[in-house]
Amino acid sequence: MPTSIQESRSRAVETVLDELISHSRNLLKCVQCGACTGSCPSGRRTQLRVRRLMEKVLMGFEDVLNSDDLWLCTTCYVCFDRCPRDAQPTSVIKRLRNIAVRKGFMKAAHQKVARLFCDTGHLVPINDEVRAVRKSLGLSELPPTVHSYPESLKELETILEATGFRRMTG
Ligand code: SF4
Ligand code: SF4
Repeated sequence: MPTSIQESRSRAVETVLDELISHSRNLLKCVQCGACTGSCPSGRRTQLRVRRLMEKVLMGFEDVLNSDDLWLCTTCYVCFDRCPRDAQPTSVIKRLRNIAVRKGFMKAAHQKVARLFCDTGHLVPINDEVRAVRKSLGLSELPPTVHSYPESLKELETILEATGFRRMTG
């Protein structure tokens, strides 16, 4: 039985917690009261339990980065506003997501959408059905986005390379 949070942290998650603390020191103020879980609209319909997620981070559970729960938050900020300790759980979740993706824990569905973005400049590229609807409404078949200006893809590629985003998508 660990005697302190410090002792209970695993080496693997220690660096994650260190990185989180460097950006979000408030996370250490969490007293596990559960007000976040009780307020979370997503938790009413999914398995997401924000208090439990915060606990996993603080206790150094190694599965936190690969957890599906991490992606069930809609970032509505209700828990952020209601937390009596200002532990800023929404910020913690967003930072955990960034760390998870950087460390190669991107979910397959997210990977698919991210690749679409890299290849087309859109998360949801246009299809024949939408083209037809646009035409029937008297619009140009293509919206005034990268679909109409494919040369912009070169600029996108520069950004994707500079940020390392394409590499992260696998
Ligand atoms: S994040 Fe805030 S509301 Fe949630 S358990 Fe910790 S102290 Fe309570
Ligand atoms: S920000 Fe996320 S975790 Fe917090 S209440 Fe909203 S859905 Fe739940």
